[in-house]
Amino acid sequence: MIVEPKVRGFICTTAHPTGCRENVKQQIEYVKSRPKTDGPKRVLVIGSSTGYGLSSRIDLAFSSGAATIGVMFERPSNGKRTASAGWYNTAAFEEFAQADGLYAKTINGDAFSREVKEEAAGLIAGDLGQVDMVVYSLASPRRTLADGTTVSSVLKTTDKDYTNKTIDLASRRITEVTVTPATEAEIADTVKVMGGEDWKDWISLLSEKGLLAPDAVTLAYSYLGPELTHPMYMDGSIGRAKEHLFQTSREISQEFPGVTAYISVNKALVTQSSAAIPIVPLYISILYKVMKEQGTHEGCIEQMYRLYAEKLPARAVDGRGMLRLDDWEMEPDVQAAVLRAWDEITDENLDRLADIDGYWEDFYQMFGFHMDGVDYAADVEVEVAVPSL
Ligand code: NAD
Repeated sequence: MIVEPKVRGFICTTAHPTGCRENVKQQIEYVKSRPKTDGPKRVLVIGSSTGYGLSSRIDLAFSSGAATIGVMFERPSNGKRTASAGWYNTAAFEEFAQADGLYAKTINGDAFSREVKEEAAGLIAGDLGQVDMVVYSLASPRRTLADGTTVSSVLKTTDKDYTNKTIDLASRRITEVTVTPATEAEIADTVKVMGGEDWKDWISLLSEKGLLAPDAVTLAYSYLGPELTHPMYMDGSIGRAKEHLFQTSREISQEFPGVTAYISVNKALVTQSSAAIPIVPLYISILYKVMKEQGTHEGCIEQMYRLYAEKLPARAVDGRGMLRLDDWEMEPDVQAAVLRAWDEITDENLDRLADIDGYWEDFYQMFGFHMDGVDYAADVEVEVAVPSL
């Protein structure tokens, strides 16, 4: 099949197997070009197939030599339509891991469910004995609870309407969006989906079964961001969930002897999840412009390398105990430049003040398109196996 991108709103419904493989390969090459990290050797990554979770898995495997078990929720190809990008990423990851003699197995299923947790526990017990690290990098719009009901997360404010600029990326036009307040029930549901309850369920189950090494570390990822996104992010419904995630990190460290839980606050980047948030894509496009000009721009893999090679080994936490990978994003001069551009930006000066092309490049590359060295006119086999599945 000749695979072309089919963009619908903020997602692409096709993915390119060779391009996704190339993307994973380039991330591995980046990690291998940097000094090795003396990190954990047995790692469980929950949400391992795209974005920050994929880069975490790549970094921990290829920099630290870790055996990894990944958990993801991805769609294989049925021969007529392509698999999802995360499926192809994982097939490539396992292929490269095997070539380097690294253990890598993946579970494809709903990480919120008891069954998937039990399956992961069985794999750890049988193959690795215990894990030294658990990375929790789920980003999901919904969660099915044990009783079968499904709750959804919303991206809304918690008090009043918030109106600000946004971008229609398809037409490259600046527009305005009003984010409306969530109801109490919507906030509670968002906390259920993106808060820390499920993270703690994972740690409880692994701890009960004796599958956590005596000084195991667990991390979950968060975002705080600048004031202009606060009403709908940090102070919004998702922010409530992230605060819950943070409180959960404290509970885990207190309640499970030997286990230390961290929140790593990462940089705003184009991923399948962030593309869905209002206002944020315009902020990211301006941020990319400013940080690329400064020479401080990073993608997921650079962020995750810095986390596991520098921030975590140094336990470099802020006043609340969080690891700050958003340090360069939040530099006062970066934020001042972003704010100036934010105030000035119009349809006419868009390309001068924002890196819309850079946004789109990252977007396409997430799905394996626009990768250098890939022949997109060539016929490709879309049914690709993930070796361990
Ligand atoms: P992503 O959409 O790229 O990745 C989500 C992962 O979760 C995928 O591997 C997917 O398969 C998996 N997943 C989703 N639902 C699942 C389910 N029910 N069962 C099993 N796996 C499931 O997202 P991302 O942007 O990398 O986000 C990961 C974390 O990083 C989130 O906590 C997010 O808030 C945080 N973060 C993101 C940004 C950003 O700008 N993208 C910035 C800071 C922090």
